[in-house]
Amino acid sequence: MPGALVLTAHGDDMEFFAGGTIALLCERGWDVDVLIATDNSRGTFELSTEQMFGLRLKEADAAAQVLGVRSVSCLDYPDGFLCETPHTTLRGQFMDAIRRHRPGIVFTWDPWAPYENHPDHRAVSWAAMEAASFAHFPLYYPEQLAGGLEPYYVPEVWYFAKNPVDVNKRVALSDAAIQKKIDALCCYDSQMVLTLRDHQIAIESAPYDVPRITGLDPHDYRAYIDHTVRRGALRAGREAGMEYAEQFRRTRWGGTERQAPDGTIPPDPV
Ligand SMILES: [Zn+2]
Repeated sequence: MPGALVLTAHGDDMEFFAGGTIALLCERGWDVDVLIATDNSRGTFELSTEQMFGLRLKEADAAAQVLGVRSVSCLDYPDGFLCETPHTTLRGQFMDAIRRHRPGIVFTWDPWAPYENHPDHRAVSWAAMEAASFAHFPLYYPEQLAGGLEPYYVPEVWYFAKNPVDVNKRVALSDAAIQKKIDALCCYDSQMVLTLRDHQIAIESAPYDVPRITGLDPHDYRAYIDHTVRRGALRAGREAGMEYAEQFRRTRWGGTERQAPDGTIPPDPV
C-alpha cells in the first residue's frame, strides 16, 4: 500500500487543510507520516514559549491518533522564524524525509497560492516543492545517498492553501471524515483557543461587533471550530456537487498524464 508524507510548518496546518483527506487515506490503509518544521512555540496569546514547546508533540500526536496517522515528527525550528533557517538546509531535510519514506503523495503548502501572510508557510512551501521536484536527482544532497538512501521520484504533490488557485482535485468527505477532521483540530487545544481569540481580536479592531463570535469564551471553541470547518467544507464542495469537500492543486507524474493512453489512469485513492 502506498504512503503519503505531509511536509508542513505548524502542528495544525495539515488538519485544517487536509485533515479529512488524510483520515480517508488512513481508513483505506495508507501509511501517512507527518513532518512539522517548527516548534509551534508562538501560536498563543496566553501561554509561554516553554509551555507551548511542551505541548507541540503532545497535541500533534493526539490529532494523529484521531486521523490514523502513522508517525509525527518535528524539526523544532523556532515558530515564526523559519526564514532564518537556510532554505537549502530545510530543503535537504525535506528531501531526506522523501527519500526515507518514498511516498506516493506529498502534501504541503502551495508556493504559488496568493496572499499567504505567514512566513513559515511560505518557507515550507518553497523548500518542500523543490525537495519533491528534485529528490530523484542523485547529485542533490549526495551525503544522504552515501548514508544508504536512494533517489526517489515523487509521483504526486497535493498542495493546500488558505486561498487556493488552480484547484484541480476535490475530495468528498464522508460524515465520519469531517468529524475526524474537527476532532483532530480540537486536539490542538492551544491552537484552537488562539484561532478563536485571533478572530475576536480582529473584530474588536473593527467599528462593529459580531456578538456570536466576541461573546464566546475562547476556551469554549468546539462549536465555533465545528461551524467554521463545516462552512469551509460546504463551500469547497458546492462547485463540485459534493456536500463536504477539501480542495487541492495537484501535480502528478510530471505532467505526463497528457500522454497517457486512454483508460490507463487508475481511479484516485480518495
Ligand atoms: Zn501554520
